[in-house]
Amino acid sequence: MNRPAHTGYSPTLWERLAAAPHPSDSFQSSFWHATALDGPATQRLEGEARTALAVVGGGYLGFSTALHLAEAGHEVTLLEADEPGFGASGRNTGFAVPNLLTGLDPRDVKAEFGEEKGTLLCRTLGEGAELVFELIRRHEIDCQARQAGWMQPLHTPKKAAWLDDRVEQWKALGRPVRRLSRDEAVYETGSEQYHGAFLDPTGGHLNPLAYVRGLAHAAIRHGARVFSDSRAKRLERVGDVWRIETDHGVLIADRVLLTTNATGGGLAPAAEGTQFPITLFQVATEPLDPELRKSVLPNDRCSADTRKDLIAYRWTWDNRLVTGGLLANPVGSAGRGRTHHIHRLQALLPQLPPLKVAYAWQGRLAAARDYMPRLMELGPNAWSAIACNGRGMAMTTALGRQFALWLTGGSNEGLPVPLTKPDPVLLPGLASLAFSLWLPLNRWKDAQDLKG
Ligand SMILES: Cc1cc2nc3c(=O)[nH]c(=O)nc-3n(C[C@H](O)[C@H](O)[C@H](O)COP(=O)(O)OP(=O)(O)OC[C@H]3O[C@@H](n4cnc5c(N)ncnc54)[C@H](O)[C@@H]3O)c2cc1C
Repeated sequence: MNRPAHTGYSPTLWERLAAAPHPSDSFQSSFWHATALDGPATQRLEGEARTALAVVGGGYLGFSTALHLAEAGHEVTLLEADEPGFGASGRNTGFAVPNLLTGLDPRDVKAEFGEEKGTLLCRTLGEGAELVFELIRRHEIDCQARQAGWMQPLHTPKKAAWLDDRVEQWKALGRPVRRLSRDEAVYETGSEQYHGAFLDPTGGHLNPLAYVRGLAHAAIRHGARVFSDSRAKRLERVGDVWRIETDHGVLIADRVLLTTNATGGGLAPAAEGTQFPITLFQVATEPLDPELRKSVLPNDRCSADTRKDLIAYRWTWDNRLVTGGLLANPVGSAGRGRTHHIHRLQALLPQLPPLKVAYAWQGRLAAARDYMPRLMELGPNAWSAIACNGRGMAMTTALGRQFALWLTGGSNEGLPVPLTKPDPVLLPGLASLAFSLWLPLNRWKDAQDLKG
């Protein structure tokens, strides 16, 4: 496919300061890109096309929605600015996590969305990883998938009561989660530094780009039309339809769902303004001695701990470790993105030999101010959905199925998120910068947790 380098995306203040390549420069430098099967052959939109429902954005959320609509026999057309999986979906750590960020438990979700909707959202998310692996099996998606469980180890004994409570809250929703003792956590993670862990055995890991490409293949097989290299640049209501303009064509749609996550490029500014973009760095090591797998994550689970500046790591099928995260100081971040997270992992797992980086890349996620998913009404029959917030694979896949049900006649009550008007944050670019600048404070708090 003939793919332009940057299709109309404007970098944030943080990225400008960073003097680092824009994430789009590193799509092809990831380990996932090097090892995923090809995506579907798609073309760009040329001339005028018509559709009952347009989905704009080809990540997990867009493709899960399109796939579930197409499977149910509905006409759907997806526009992707670049290629399927070009956004966060093709660049993440590949954890399928049926849970929310630390600090957001079912009780918090219910407090925000109300008992009924909050419970529905937690159930939807709780089943999210099961849905991911079920789709992989059903559509025979070859994406190095391992449903071996997701762990959240405790970096400090001070959080033990919180962990017990978190486990109980998810158990009350019928989820098969479990608390690991300190000994179990040390064994499962390979690190003496942990004090227990949350385990959800339905989670797991995979090649995230291969997974989203597989969803795209499946959606197309079931009749969805997909145009890549087709950034939607303008969305306007004309009579009783929506007109979506790209560089080379126009899509006329009865209904529109935007799933553009962090890189909408001003298509729906108010909706995009409800979130702030955050850049994360990722590395994959050179292949390691397979014997090390006996002492590090011996059951091939994936692990993301309870630090505010969390440490996440996993194995790949060919014995590499993948890790990554935020960087506080953007200056020179492209270089430090390669080393900082490796050093942290090495300190956590001193039994490892000196690690060498084989692949480095970066990606952007979008976070809402409360880290909750959103479904926003843009006008008659047009909506924008954001479900990312850093733990998005299970959430976006599951919400895509729910949105498809809703779009085909489901009630608003059946939606796991409220339908709202866009409620932008003040200066999302600055909010995004602030996220990195808060990091030193968060690291200081993490360090305090480790003290007696
Ligand atoms: C480095 C990193 C690590 C992460 N690790 C994990 C993890 O391990 N587990 C997890 O669950 N989550 C993780 N996340 C979050 C997860 O990747 C996201 O929640 C998820 O991929 C979001 O999916 P999405 O479909 O909403 O958005 P995206 O995948 O970002 O898709 C949006 C798509 O819309 C397209 N687009 C944008 N504007 C337009 C337009 N105007 N016209 C047409 N197309 C447009 C983009 O090109 C893009 O392909 C991570 C994120 C990052 C960045």
